[in-house]
Amino acid sequence: MNAHPQQIWTDWQAQQRAARISTADLLAEVGLSAADFPAGVLAAPDFPVSAPPHFRSLIRRGDPGDPLLRQVLARGEEALPQPGRLTDPLEEADYRAAPGLLRKYRSRALMIASGACAIHCRYCFRRHYDYGAAMLTRAGEAEALAAIAADPAIEEVILSGGDPLSLNDARLDGLVTAIAAVPHVGTLRLHSRTLMTIPDRVTPALIRLLTGTRLAVVIVAHSNHANEISADVAAALGRLRAAGVTLLNQSVLLAGVNDDAATIAAHARRIFAAGMLPYYMHLTDPVDGAAHFDVDEGRARLIEAELRGMLPGYLVPRFVREVPGRTAKTPLADLS
Ligand code: SF4
Repeated sequence: MNAHPQQIWTDWQAQQRAARISTADLLAEVGLSAADFPAGVLAAPDFPVSAPPHFRSLIRRGDPGDPLLRQVLARGEEALPQPGRLTDPLEEADYRAAPGLLRKYRSRALMIASGACAIHCRYCFRRHYDYGAAMLTRAGEAEALAAIAADPAIEEVILSGGDPLSLNDARLDGLVTAIAAVPHVGTLRLHSRTLMTIPDRVTPALIRLLTGTRLAVVIVAHSNHANEISADVAAALGRLRAAGVTLLNQSVLLAGVNDDAATIAAHARRIFAAGMLPYYMHLTDPVDGAAHFDVDEGRARLIEAELRGMLPGYLVPRFVREVPGRTAKTPLADLS
């Protein structure tokens, strides 16, 4: 699996800093060139290329079709005209309740805790997001927390981003402590891809932080392919499970990455073995620059049906799409 040399890293923040890489250096690292891609690659994309060393070490050398490489390499398809594609496909700007706080659901509030992700997924629906305007800042934090405290209907606070595990422990601890001080909030959820990209992020200090709160802690990780679940990732998940953290996974259905039932089934079995259950399989959002990842609904339905014949129900993720204007995710079966 680890086919090319990897520096030994111990410091997760150093790994985060080392994630940014040029397209040319990424290609060189995996033994490929621009000529290996029919539509070419983008030398300096607006959404820069970023993938932490651990994730890069799992890319198969010399394979332009590698499913992990496809998620992080800026391919020429991104620059092709994409009529009808949007920069804010979920119209999230409409749900801002306070600085850094989105409110789509009555019982849950979502904090844009960080604008940073160590990895830049090329299909990301927030790749054009104006984090400067939307992100939780220290100045806006009091207002966001006051909005949560003022509404007893909010039972769960979701830290999202960006990636909340890109925050340092002191900042994360401050947020968790402040949220735990709101009596009607019982659950803290973190949406994070860092578990897969920098498993060393799961330090003893992070475990202490997550177990030292009265809140029930749920982490919804984001992985798309079994090759992302390395031994180091599985060990990090094991540490979280042993600490009592509930682990769920969400994926995005991506052409050329996981758009067949056998690949999704292998991923589901792998994450289950690592202590995590599949949760959602999102169909792509119509974000500008990512049309080459789309899988049409008809094909998605066939894949979902095939999975039901292959896996026990608890290992089949819920296939959903976010429909602008609808607060809840729409199951694939309910899309016309
Ligand atoms: S980790 Fe999530 S928010 Fe960050 S780039 Fe990937 S899809 Fe986007």
